[in-house]
This record gives sequence, structure tokens and C-alpha cells, in this order.
Amino acid sequence: MAEPVFKRILLKLSGESLMGSRDYGTDPERLRAVATSIKAIHDRGVEIAIVVGAGNIYRGMKGAAAGMDRATADYMGMLATVLNALPLQDALETQGVHTRVQSAIKVEEVAEPYIRRRAMRHLEKGRVVIFAAGTGNPFFTTDTAAALRAVEIHAEAILMAKNGVEGVYTADPREDPEAMLIPEITHMEALQRGLRVMDATALTLCMENRLPLHVFNMDDEQNIERIVSGERVGTLVK
Ligand code: UDP
Repeated sequence: MAEPVFKRILLKLSGESLMGSRDYGTDPERLRAVATSIKAIHDRGVEIAIVVGAGNIYRGMKGAAAGMDRATADYMGMLATVLNALPLQDALETQGVHTRVQSAIKVEEVAEPYIRRRAMRHLEKGRVVIFAAGTGNPFFTTDTAAALRAVEIHAEAILMAKNGVEGVYTADPREDPEAMLIPEITHMEALQRGLRVMDATALTLCMENRLPLHVFNMDDEQNIERIVSGERVGTLVK
């Protein structure tokens, strides 16, 4: 097998990617499958940090739309990411992968606080670090957390896991049958065309720091390994 092309990556897992066929929460089968894909690249020596979302449990925008104060709703969303980080940690440790969860909101009994240098040390020691609670700030998303943490820890790329789609398309493939997969695009063009890669704040941060993004379909469990082996999968944003 080819040498991994990355030494350190950041994997962004949306809440939905842990949901499987359920319509809420996490699916144990799905968690096992995700953990297996992560273990495969971990075994090849790639250092892996993960940012988890919470769309499978709660999104601040929904609370705000229902009349709740946006900041309060966003804090709920951030706490919900902790509820995804813990079962993911459990699934990885069940497969023998050592992990640490670091949270941007203090939940000291269940996770370490986010400390950048400590996170990097964990990675060097071969532990998978799961970043929970987004950036710790309302009005942001876990995509922004992924961009921010990736830049902070000097990850070489972000692997953006999607479900049901292969990457970035010219239009939403679930709505437009003419939508075409874009194999490669620059950050700037994706921003200008308003393509759904990640939100604009996150994408801007990646652009300014020249951080490449691999957007791929997580439903194919081999995809992470393919990307790490240097194969072209889904969409490369660089
Ligand atoms: N959130 C936040 N600040 C952050 C990250 C997340 O306020 O830095 C909140 C926000 O309400 C968001 C929710 O947490 O809707 C869940 O995150 P996200 O929607 O990004 O999850 P995903 O779409 O990746 O599942």
C-alpha cells in the first residue's frame, strides 16, 4: 500500500454522518463503521484530529427560528457536540485506538479542556484527538471549528465527510438532476459561486491559510484510506 500522503489531518464529521438511517441521534452500527475507517488510517501512522458536529441532535439556528435567543440556542448546539464526541470516543477505544476528547466549553468530568499544545502532544503520541463544543463561541459552526483547529494544529488538510453525495456539485444534487460533481476548485471560486463546501467563514479561513479540503462521501468506508493514499476522491478544494 502507498505511503500516506499526510502526516496529520483533521477530519470533520457532521452530526448527520453519525446518524446512519435514524432520524435522530447516533447509530451504533454507523459509529462502528466510522471508527473502523479511522482506525485504518491511524494504523498507517497518520495523526488524526476530529471535529464533530451536532446536526443529528440540535442546531442553534432551529432554536433561534423557534424564537429562542440565538446565543442560548448555539450553546445548546455546542453541548450537543459533546454528546457525539463521547460515543465516537467509545467506538474508537473499543477498536483499540487511544483517544482524548478536548472540549472548547469546560466539561471537566468528561473531557479535557481545549489546550492547543496538549492536543498536539496527544497527536504526536498517536492518540486521536476529538474536538468537541465547536469553537466555544455562539454564531459559529463546527465547520469553522474544523478550519480553526486544523490551522492551529498545523494539519495538512481537512477531510470533510459528507453523506449521500460524492463531493461538491455545481448545484444541490438532491434537488437538481443536472448537478455535476466538481473534481477540483479553488477556495475563492467556491466562495464566489456560493457552493456548499462549508460555510463562508470557515472557507475563508481555509483560503487565507492555504489549507486544502477534501470533500468526500463517507458512505463509502474506503474513501478516507483512498484520500490518505493520495487517490483523487470527491472534490479537492485548494
Ligand atoms: N455551534 C456554535 N459555535 C461553534 C460550533 C457550533 O454555536 O463554534 C452550535 C451551532 O448552534 C450549530 C450547532 O452547534 O448549529 C451544531 O453544529 P453544526 O451545525 O456545525 O453541526 P453539523 O452541521 O456539523 O452537524
